[in-house]
Amino acid sequence: MLSVTVVDDKDLEKSKIIERVKKELKEYCGIDSGRFIKHYYIPHALPDLKDLQCSVKPPQTGLADNIFLAGDSQLNGSLNAAIVSGEEAAIRVIEKLSN
Ligand SMILES: Cc1cc2nc3c(=O)[nH]c(=O)nc-3n(C[C@H](O)[C@H](O)[C@H](O)COP(=O)(O)OP(=O)(O)OC[C@H]3O[C@@H](n4cnc5c(N)ncnc54)[C@H](O)[C@@H]3O)c2cc1C
Repeated sequence: MLSVTVVDDKDLEKSKIIERVKKELKEYCGIDSGRFIKHYYIPHALPDLKDLQCSVKPPQTGLADNIFLAGDSQLNGSLNAAIVSGEEAAIRVIEKLSN
C-alpha cells in the first residue's frame, strides 16, 4: 500500500490529482500503481514556510547553559530538518560534556 502527500494541489480537481500522482509514481519511481483507495483533503496540515532554513546555528540549539533544543521547529517541518537539528543538538551536548 502506498501513501502519497500532495502539498500544493495547484487547484487541480481530485481526479486530476490522482491521475498526476499515478503518472509521477510511474515516471520517477518506476511504480505502476494499481487501485486507488482513498483521498483525504486536510486543510492547514503543514505550515506555509516563507523562510526555509536548512542548517542550525549553535546559538539556536543552546537555549541556556544546560538546555539544548532539537526538532523541526528549529529549522523547517521535515524529517530531514528534525534529524539535522537533533544531530546539531547532540554535538552541542557532547562538546559541553567534553569541556
Ligand atoms: C501531514 C504531514 C505530512 C508530512 N510529510 C512529510 C514528508 O513527506 N516528509 C518529511 O520529511 N516530513 C514530513 N512531515 C514533517 C515531519 O513529520 C516532521 O517535521 C517531523 O516528524 C518532526 O520531528 P520532530 O522530532 O521534530 O517532532 P515530532 O515528530 O512532532 O515529535 C515531537 C514529540 O514531542 C512530543 N511532545 C510534545 N510536547 C511534549 C511535552 N510537553 N512533553 C513531552 N512530549 C511532548 C510529541 O507528542 C511528539 O511525539 C509531515 C508532517 C505532517 C503533519
